[in-house]
Amino acid sequence: MRGDAHAHTLVAPADLDSALALLADNKGHRVLAGGTDVMVAFERGLLRDARLISIWQLDELRGIATVGRHLTIGALTTYTDLIESSLVAEHAPTLAAAARDTAAVAIRNRGTIGGNIANASPAADLPPALLVHDCEVELRSASGARWVDYAGFHTGYKTTVMRPDELIVRVRVPLVDAPMRHFYRKVGTRRAQAISKVCISASVRRGHDVRIAFGSVAPTVVRARIVERELASALAAGLLSTEAVSRIVALGVAEARPIDDIRSTAEYRGRVTRNLLRECLMSFVA
Ligand SMILES: Cc1cc2nc3c(=O)[nH]c(=O)nc-3n(C[C@H](O)[C@H](O)[C@H](O)COP(=O)(O)OP(=O)(O)OC[C@H]3O[C@@H](n4cnc5c(N)ncnc54)[C@H](O)[C@@H]3O)c2cc1C
Repeated sequence: MRGDAHAHTLVAPADLDSALALLADNKGHRVLAGGTDVMVAFERGLLRDARLISIWQLDELRGIATVGRHLTIGALTTYTDLIESSLVAEHAPTLAAAARDTAAVAIRNRGTIGGNIANASPAADLPPALLVHDCEVELRSASGARWVDYAGFHTGYKTTVMRPDELIVRVRVPLVDAPMRHFYRKVGTRRAQAISKVCISASVRRGHDVRIAFGSVAPTVVRARIVERELASALAAGLLSTEAVSRIVALGVAEARPIDDIRSTAEYRGRVTRNLLRECLMSFVA
């Protein structure tokens, strides 16, 4: 049943410090960015937090720039911003690919990278790309700021290291000093407006640096460390044969440990993971 608007108050602080001061009060609040997840919860009558704090107008949380050896992306960056950014295309191409495959135009114009991370859905589309770009997340509260390695951000199903008084301010991606090859593929019920059943993101620099992440197969997004190790040694030895691909794919499906949930069955996810991982590895053969 739809939520009751009178059960909530909405405040819209004018700057970041004011927003952090409100969060420090810790009085049962929910941050509202683009609202594309929060309003779904409201429509379903599942929004329990009495106080909504809108951060949409905080310019401090916008902008995409290279700063030193990093690409930094403000938490309020939308999918459309990611798709249109030449810096993201250059330095974090799987992030742009993931944004292109997310939802449809209306949601892409409003949904944000910070909201996608904080909402902590294992089926979200940006997280596998953020993992392969070795991203870090800046969390800020009234008492200070800290950078958290995104690989350690999700602690379980919909749980994170973020405290209730903290905001995601921006993320940063280290710039790489040599070209990498990339792969991103999502499988959902249909091509548009569909949440992932399985998603794979990969970035590979031959013989050196192999990063692969699975989304939507487990309670959190995960790096496929065994696949990464095996693929790196096969590439370094110049031995990525069809047999090697089959062996690594089998290891990958075991490593992903696909789950049953409302979106799909473990059996279907296992089959799709096998096919996507094969497609991914074969793309690095040539
Ligand atoms: C029709 C539809 C289709 C969708 N399709 C997809 C899809 O294909 N792939 C996909 O991944 N997602 C999809 N989504 C989900 C949603 O659009 C994304 O998760 C989006 O990125 C959320 O961002 P937002 O700014 O709207 O977050 P909001 O709804 O404003 O917030 C989401 C959560 O994050 C918290 N939050 C937001 N910003 C911050 C911050 N800076 N710091 C701390 N906490 C914060 C909020 O408190 C809330 O708990 C879809 C949603 C809809 C309605």
